[in-house]
Amino acid sequence: MKRAVISDIHANLEALQAVLADIEREQVDEIVCLGDVVGYGPDPNECAQLIQQRCTFSILGNHDAAAIGTLSTANFNVHARRAIEWTTKEMNRHTQSFLKTNPLKKILGDCLCVHATPYEPNMWHYITTYQDAQVNFEYFEQRICLVGHTHIPVMIGWEHPSVYLHQKSSLSLAHFPHNRFIINVGSVGQPRDNDNRSCYVIMDTGRESFYYRRVEYDIERYQEKMERIAMPSFLITRVAEGI
Ligand code: ZN
Repeated sequence: MKRAVISDIHANLEALQAVLADIEREQVDEIVCLGDVVGYGPDPNECAQLIQQRCTFSILGNHDAAAIGTLSTANFNVHARRAIEWTTKEMNRHTQSFLKTNPLKKILGDCLCVHATPYEPNMWHYITTYQDAQVNFEYFEQRICLVGHTHIPVMIGWEHPSVYLHQKSSLSLAHFPHNRFIINVGSVGQPRDNDNRSCYVIMDTGRESFYYRRVEYDIERYQEKMERIAMPSFLITRVAEGI
């Protein structure tokens, strides 16, 4: 079975449409979403509708939670907060009720899916260091944990007793029979690894393999829409730089 794992769409419809077209070419059996469908971008309702139609499930992200009012924006930076305020007003009832039903985690065979971290998934911690990863490996039983949240695609391996970076854009589990992995699938709508192309992961359960896909989309069109709704200029320029 082939499955596409997408995350952090952030209401970027141009990016989501380009990724869905790429997924179509990959001929997957299923698409799942790790959350942050909304926040930052100009098309929360269109993106939520597409995600609902095309994905088997979507996990709740911190921007989703803030947009439906279950998470305070006190810890958000000023740009993110401004975007959430706009999003909250813009969302229709359908989008709100969809986001409200999304769970904090989901198990897919030997994979745990969360938005941020397996440890306290409702606290929106980040995995940015080896130490963060080490702690989190203790909080899931499955072999693989799929995450989003940082918008940085990375595969972190665990081989008793320590963690390491798997520095490749693909992973075949057969080559690592004693290892477990945390895989960050990257971001569709706001990549931050200095590559402005959308990012997502294909997992092939038969081959027990994972690989990243990078997809170009119409960034200028997205930026024009952002300007029209007067979003902060930082949010408009960052997508072109992939930061
Ligand atoms: Zn995000």
